[in-house]
Amino acid sequence: MAAEKNHGLIIVYTGDGKGKTTAALGMALRAMGYGWKIAILQFVKGTWKTGEREFLKKTGGGITYEQLGIGFVTWKPTRPFEEHLDAAHQAWDRAKNIVMSDEYDLIILDEINNATRFKLLPVDDVLKLIEEKPERLHIVLTGRGADQRIIDRADLVTEMKMVKHPFEKGKMAARGIDY
Ligand code: ATP
Ligand code: MG
Repeated sequence: MAAEKNHGLIIVYTGDGKGKTTAALGMALRAMGYGWKIAILQFVKGTWKTGEREFLKKTGGGITYEQLGIGFVTWKPTRPFEEHLDAAHQAWDRAKNIVMSDEYDLIILDEINNATRFKLLPVDDVLKLIEEKPERLHIVLTGRGADQRIIDRADLVTEMKMVKHPFEKGKMAARGIDY
């Protein structure tokens, strides 16, 4: 069953607290219940295995899952910015194709806010794609520091606020919880 023919929503999960990616994954789980076609596109190169990737590899549930692999500028400062830009452009071309294919009901652009924050991707390009996207398509954009113009355009914005995080006490990321 396809999504209703309503206007797709632009949804933003941002802020410094935990829960942005997992909120998007939770929404994907919910949408799966209605047989929606879903794509999850990861804009940050995975440095470690994640539970969601393992699950989707094994079971899938028909979800398109792609790590588009823009490495963070801050992660490998030895790599020239040009290389990051190149990777970002390729990733963005892929994302545009998937959005414009009109095959999907829900697309999660995970960590894309970081790509724009680090100037790997112009905010204008993201706004343009939102304008041109198939009408019924819902798009979720996650990542810290969402651009104000994206926030202004979005229909639904939630800012995760860090109240406490084990990281502050020096605790490492936990398997099954953080990755
Ligand atoms: P999650 O994927 O758990 O929903 P997130 O998408 O909100 O987290 P990101 O900014 O993408 O968080 O960060 C990815 C990793 O950093 C996750 O392992 C997450 O648990 C961890 N993290 C999130 N918030 C904080 C924080 N305030 N301090 C330290 N680490 C954090
Ligand atoms: Mg995240």
